Amino acid sequence: MKNILVAVDTSDEAKQVLEAAIELGRCFDANLSLTHVVEPVVTENSYDLINTVPLEMDDVLVKHAENFLANLKKELAPDIFSSVERGSLKAEILRQARENNVDLIVVGSHGRHGLALLLGSTANALLHGAPCDVYVVRIKD
Ligand code: AMP
Repeated sequence: MKNILVAVDTSDEAKQVLEAAIELGRCFDANLSLTHVVEPVVTENSYDLINTVPLEMDDVLVKHAENFLANLKKELAPDIFSSVERGSLKAEILRQARENNVDLIVVGSHGRHGLALLLGSTANALLHGAPCDVYVVRIKD
């Protein structure tokens, strides 16, 4: 394991995911990188939201995520590379995994999308498409 990609949302549970990835990184003496994906805010004409969701909403989410990752890194791993990307969550994480020769993707078992599930939707989706191993951190409730 040389390159480990850690994908986090912006919930309190992200700390558990990064802590576990840091431990793994130490075991393998691997490079760690941290990422968060901002998915486009969907506006549906039929819901008449087009005039109520500000166009710059994505920018606000990107800024929030950048601050969140900066604080998380400051607390746990100041020197690792981090990025906030825009796009489809699964597609973007898999793109990064392919392009950066990632050997292991680390995600949480569930987050905002999957509170009621054993395995959240992101972890599940990545398991089905990843070009490498996927390590799922069991999020403690
Ligand atoms: P969920 O699919 O919401 O249950 O989240 C499961 C895990 O997927 C989280 O613990 C994170 O590790 C990862 N994840 C969820 N949303 C994002 C996101 N927007 N960007 C990067 N990773 C994410």
